[in-house]
Amino acid sequence: MLTIDGSQGEGGGQVLRSSLALSLVTGRPFRITNIRAARKKPGLMRQHLTAVRAAADVGGAQLSGAEIGSKELTFEPKGVRPGEYHFSIGTAGSTTLVLQTVLPALLTASGASELILEGGTHNMQAPPFDFLERTFLPLVNRMGPRIEARLECPGFYPAGGGKIVVSIEPSATLTGFDLLERGKIRRKEARAVIARLPRHIAERELDVIADKLDWPEACLSIDEVRASKGPGNVVMIEIECEHLTEVFTAFGQRGVSAESVASEVVSEAREYLDSGVPVGRHLADQLLLPLALSTNGGAYRTLRPSKHTQTHIDVLRLFLDVDIAVDHREGGCWQIGVRLS
Ligand code: ATP
Repeated sequence: MLTIDGSQGEGGGQVLRSSLALSLVTGRPFRITNIRAARKKPGLMRQHLTAVRAAADVGGAQLSGAEIGSKELTFEPKGVRPGEYHFSIGTAGSTTLVLQTVLPALLTASGASELILEGGTHNMQAPPFDFLERTFLPLVNRMGPRIEARLECPGFYPAGGGKIVVSIEPSATLTGFDLLERGKIRRKEARAVIARLPRHIAERELDVIADKLDWPEACLSIDEVRASKGPGNVVMIEIECEHLTEVFTAFGQRGVSAESVASEVVSEAREYLDSGVPVGRHLADQLLLPLALSTNGGAYRTLRPSKHTQTHIDVLRLFLDVDIAVDHREGGCWQIGVRLS
């Protein structure tokens, strides 16, 4: 059985989630130790435990150590079972991260699946629903499967209560792609989402964005969410290009001014726009796994890789015979190539 040190690299939940995803796809059982050792509250939190149980359901896996706070787990999958699943985190933990865990296996499963996921939909340090829907899934769909995601209700930290529904039509194999250029920018939009909070927060955020990026009013919008269990605020900058759409997000937090939140998302978007690369930092780590599972691999240009990306590459190499090269091209441009050995 493969043994994985959960404290390696970033030492966060991604080592666990990627191991679960890869174990489902390859059928290889594993034991993981030191789960989330580098985090303030190490071990399995509710979101990770939901991901473990979701992976066990989808893979008919035998588990030991699957409890809150556990720092060690064994996972022995029996075979991927597509179908209808309902995963409820029970807190505001990220639904999109639970989805990331089971999605790869269902992309090439023997039948269609429909997943209902409940918890948080717009969480810090996780892909927000909008990024999932407009950035990540269109690229996965380009590889062959047909995935549709619907936001039934947004869920923000700490109240949660969000719900997403995802349908997956698998394909027999995944076809990789190269993403070396972003092409012309077709549309740009800044959207401030507020739930149960004063509208002026969103207005101030958009004022900062309009001012710093010199964007006209037509590119700005406010989305006042009524059906949210608790308060929440996110501000997103969406850049639709010929070859992909990128979504950058900053999260409103108690004690952080609307102006600071907006400035944060502007810095991220500006770094991306100035660099000329197609793939932003978060997408860079999320594209690795699907490309590594494709029949032909692929290459993409991105910003300086994060520690998260490096950690993800190390975990992929433990499960798959894959050659991943990270090369600095020039200035702020790196190229990541995924080749199957
Ligand atoms: P934990 O904190 O629970 O231990 P973790 O350390 O693995 O989990 P992160 O490394 O922070 O969590 O990130 C999880 C995933 O969420 C990564 O794939 C990352 O790219 C993605 N992610 C984080 N923020 C964003 C964002 N704003 N937009 C898109 N994706 C994001």
